[in-house]
Amino acid sequence: MTGEPYGYRVLVRVLFGLGGEPPAWRERAACADSDPDLFHNARRIAAAKAICATCPVLDECRRDQLDWEANGPARFRANTFGVVGGLTGAERRRIHYPTNSVKDVA
Ligand code: SF4
Repeated sequence: MTGEPYGYRVLVRVLFGLGGEPPAWRERAACADSDPDLFHNARRIAAAKAICATCPVLDECRRDQLDWEANGPARFRANTFGVVGGLTGAERRRIHYPTNSVKDVA
């Protein structure tokens, strides 16, 4: 998986967990059968967010992603990318670094 884009690896990490076991909520994820590229395309943010908005596990996904970014190496939260848990990478960086100005690229 090391050849995959960083954002995709983040999404997979969120969906499948560190140990390779998917979190229990994963089975109900609205994006389970979606194209992962949709969640990592700056021109398709609205479409990705629309899927997240219908997701029955949005809260769990967002919590796990933010926890993972907050508790991992600084690069995890400094380089957030892709829509996960209904938030773009820039929106998550604003949560981690509320006083910084960040560019919304996806
Ligand atoms: S909130 Fe979005 S990224 Fe998270 S599981 Fe649901 S659809 Fe997928």
